[in-house]
Amino acid sequence: MYVGRLAPSPTGYLHLGNARTFLVTWLRARQAGGTLIMRMEDLNYPRVQQETVRESYEDLRWLGLDWDYGPPDSQPLKSVAPHGSYVQSERSDVYRRYLDKLAAQDLVYPCTCTRKDILAALDAPHDGEEPRYPNTCRGRWNSRAEAQAQSGRNAALRMRVEPGESTFVDLFHGPHTVDLYESSGDFVVSTRLDQLPSYHLAVVSDDIEMGVTEVVRGADLLPTTHRHLLLYRAFGMAPPNYYHLPLMRDTAGRRLAKRDGDTRIAHLRKQGIPAERVLGWLAYTLGQQSTPSDLTVESLQAQFDPTRIPRNEIHLTTADRTHLGLAERQD
Ligand code: GLU
Repeated sequence: MYVGRLAPSPTGYLHLGNARTFLVTWLRARQAGGTLIMRMEDLNYPRVQQETVRESYEDLRWLGLDWDYGPPDSQPLKSVAPHGSYVQSERSDVYRRYLDKLAAQDLVYPCTCTRKDILAALDAPHDGEEPRYPNTCRGRWNSRAEAQAQSGRNAALRMRVEPGESTFVDLFHGPHTVDLYESSGDFVVSTRLDQLPSYHLAVVSDDIEMGVTEVVRGADLLPTTHRHLLLYRAFGMAPPNYYHLPLMRDTAGRRLAKRDGDTRIAHLRKQGIPAERVLGWLAYTLGQQSTPSDLTVESLQAQFDPTRIPRNEIHLTTADRTHLGLAERQD
């Protein structure tokens, strides 16, 4: 039985790129006759605006998407909640249980390093990406309590990564290989300052608990999938299938930003742009029709063929912006 999930983070309002990924997530789940879960990934966002969360649900419903289970205020199709809360900040018991499983196998260790410490310990300047962890605290402390008492700082917990390449076959992208030891090194599963589960721990624990069989998300998360696979192995669980979609970018290949006009779904919705206009255009960028003509979600679902999704990233053009009623570029 197919189980998929929509997993927005309340980092801001949903834009066209997010909507495109969520649309494919929905289409794959519905085409498989599966179950779709809405999970609000609000951990590590201490100043979550409830307004942002509410708007995300509204944007997706406006596009015609629905979900079987989710937070009550997201208006899921079913009012039962077989997995407890669908809001990550309300699931700390689950994450504690999973963290304990890692600790019991001695797979995690306390780390008191700040980002500054890590950068200082590296010889090569890094390029803005997350720096590789230089193993400073491996074997240094016996426990988190000891690390905190002796250093006078809070301690994170890091998952040990052993040298060697790992490969997995992504359903969209194909084989993907990374040597995690070289690229990221030991990674955080419980954060230093807030002692909260990291994204990696939370997402894997939740996907296991909720029985998720396929993860559809943006290709920016492809490299981190190798961390997730390591966690699945540690928990003795089979991982889901992964389906990483190429990102949507501006004409110059940068992340979407305000300079491209306001690409937030909430903005288009409030401008009175019909949902069918947005859906038709998204379907066009997904190779589902040869022109961006308006389309309902029902007809898109009826004709959806995932093999027609282009392999390359989508770059927003002037014609796209005009079609969607977005303002002119401002740079
Ligand atoms: N909540 C994550 C995000 O919005 C997505 C996580 C995932 O799909 O694994 O970036």
